[in-house]
Amino acid sequence: MPEYETIDHDVLVIGAGGAGLRAAIAAAAAGVKVGLVCKSLLGKAHTVMAEGGMAASLGNVDDRDNWRVHFADTMRGGQYVNNWRMAELHAKEAPDRVRELEAWGALFDRTPDGRILQRNFGGHRYPRLAHVGDRTGLEMIRTLQDHGVHQGIDVHMECTVVTLFRDGERVSGAFAYDRERGRFRVFRAKAIVLATGGIGRAFSITSNSWEYTGDGHSLAYHAGAVLQDMEFVQFHPTGMVWPPSVKGILVTEGVRGEGGVLKNKDGRRFMFDDIPDNYKSQTADNEEEGWRYTQGDKNARRPPELLTRDHVARCIMREVREGRGSPHGGVYLDIAWIKARLPNAAEHIKKKLPSMYHQFKQLADIDITTTPMEVGPTTHYVMGGIRVDGDSQMSTVPGLFAAGECAAGLHGANRLGGNSLSDLLVFGKRAGDYAAKFAREHGAVSVDSAAIDAASRWSLGPFERAAGGNGRGGDGPYQIQNRLQGIMQDGVGIVRREDEMVRALGEVRKLQEEATRVGVPGNREYNPGWHTALDLPNLLTISEAVARAAIERRESRGGHFRDDYPEKDPQYGTFNITLKKAADGSMQLERVTIPPMPAELKAVIEEMK
Ligand SMILES: Cc1cc2nc3c(=O)[nH]c(=O)nc-3n(C[C@H](O)[C@H](O)[C@H](O)COP(=O)(O)OP(=O)(O)OC[C@H]3O[C@@H](n4cnc5c(N)ncnc54)[C@H](O)[C@@H]3O)c2cc1C
Repeated sequence: MPEYETIDHDVLVIGAGGAGLRAAIAAAAAGVKVGLVCKSLLGKAHTVMAEGGMAASLGNVDDRDNWRVHFADTMRGGQYVNNWRMAELHAKEAPDRVRELEAWGALFDRTPDGRILQRNFGGHRYPRLAHVGDRTGLEMIRTLQDHGVHQGIDVHMECTVVTLFRDGERVSGAFAYDRERGRFRVFRAKAIVLATGGIGRAFSITSNSWEYTGDGHSLAYHAGAVLQDMEFVQFHPTGMVWPPSVKGILVTEGVRGEGGVLKNKDGRRFMFDDIPDNYKSQTADNEEEGWRYTQGDKNARRPPELLTRDHVARCIMREVREGRGSPHGGVYLDIAWIKARLPNAAEHIKKKLPSMYHQFKQLADIDITTTPMEVGPTTHYVMGGIRVDGDSQMSTVPGLFAAGECAAGLHGANRLGGNSLSDLLVFGKRAGDYAAKFAREHGAVSVDSAAIDAASRWSLGPFERAAGGNGRGGDGPYQIQNRLQGIMQDGVGIVRREDEMVRALGEVRKLQEEATRVGVPGNREYNPGWHTALDLPNLLTISEAVARAAIERRESRGGHFRDDYPEKDPQYGTFNITLKKAADGSMQLERVTIPPMPAELKAVIEEMK
């Protein structure tokens, strides 16, 4: 058997984004031995890309805000299939987590009287996003990292986990390789927190980084955990569409929060044409009121550009499909127009949206202070993930926890912007606390040497196949990944139909077969082709999960839009769709009833309608 190094921890956190760092800090504070593993360098996790801010009802800009409004907004945005307990905890605890981050050194933008400034974002009734310009994720990661390095956490960077081990029912460790030299590591741990982020790389147009190959989802699924809500993928309405080299890169919702408007090729603000009934009472019906809202007028209602992401994305698709799009298949997002309203508008835009200004200037040669941007939907976030207990974040496998984007529940059918960063803090902390508690209360675990042997053989399989000739002639890992992305984008993308999804699922199944024959040339050192070959099965597993769940949900809700079932069906609002690996290795789907909401939470929702 190839050599490997064995490393012991009480709690192993896989992923060093906001959720993983916060979990590691919490577990270390509880006094247990903590290891933190990440695929990239520390500080490079996807969270660093987050722009607009983190949602918390601090009430600094509008004192009518409180946890009850935030809870109701989150449930309405998620179309009531959310885990209501998580939505409650998130709304109640986010303000403390944000203030804690400030106490640890995060330098948020300020109100004139020196409190944390909050900005408008889609689906939030009041200005709620604490932010640092449009670089909030960077500040969050920097602060958590600075705080975390003093907690005695062992960090294993550029190290990819490929399998989880179990000792009986319990999770017991992880098998990993270091990306530079390709050496193997076996982590033994009494508890594991998965904080591996999302799945965007399963689609061809995405705002997500190379790391988003659904590893945590897939690791948990193959270790026996249950996945939930995988049909709910968020297509953010505003990604760059031109030039091709930047397609999919995010244009923050902060642009619309600062007064940016969406127009079609005829210059029409088409978002006024389709305001859903359940948002009518909260949405401006004229341009003047919408502008006043973005400028902080408490008596104004929000402009329709700040409706939820799923709705805005579909309105953009409608304009494009009906021939009113921009030359490169998007629509126009115009922030330059505010010069008609504000003196020093150009300076204001550069101050509030510095990254957007530079992004368009450098990548598309467009000055957003004078020229509208071309934008269109991009795969952005997965609401689905590992099913967890709302309080502890433990999955259905004892000792295996999940937090952040790889966990399911909080966001239901659609996530509100800004609710992810606060999710990372609230549930990262909870996962770390409960994982430490689990590690304290449970004895040592062992890892079976046969399982280690199997994991190392599997990992080296691509080289064996290339050497044996089996990898030749067929597609390599990049080609298969590329084909998969096309299949998912076209077949299970923003607008879905039964026949197209069934075809896509069949093609994904075929690719799974092909992937078992993939070979890669070269050796274990510095070999990105090998890394891709090992990521590929994860992408294929989660793609199958998305397709199966999306076929099962015969209605439209949140991020899941079906052309053949365009309406919401109340019966589908009573359950979540879950997926579990059956004994024969097949993917088993189940409809799991959502538990009844306590009367006091129901009352909050009724009151806020
Ligand atoms: C451009 C952009 C802007 C955004 N802006 C906002 C915003 O303003 N507000 C908001 O709330 N949300 C925003 N989001 C969403 C938000 O950033 C993410 O949902 C969130 O950062 C995810 O954090 P995480 O901790 O779950 O995962 P990540 O930050 O992605 O961290 C995942 C970690 O897991 C590691 N990992 C993955 N697989 C493995 C493996 N197999 N082995 C070892 N390590 C592994 C990675 O290396 C990484 O360290 C934005 C997203 C994008 C793309």
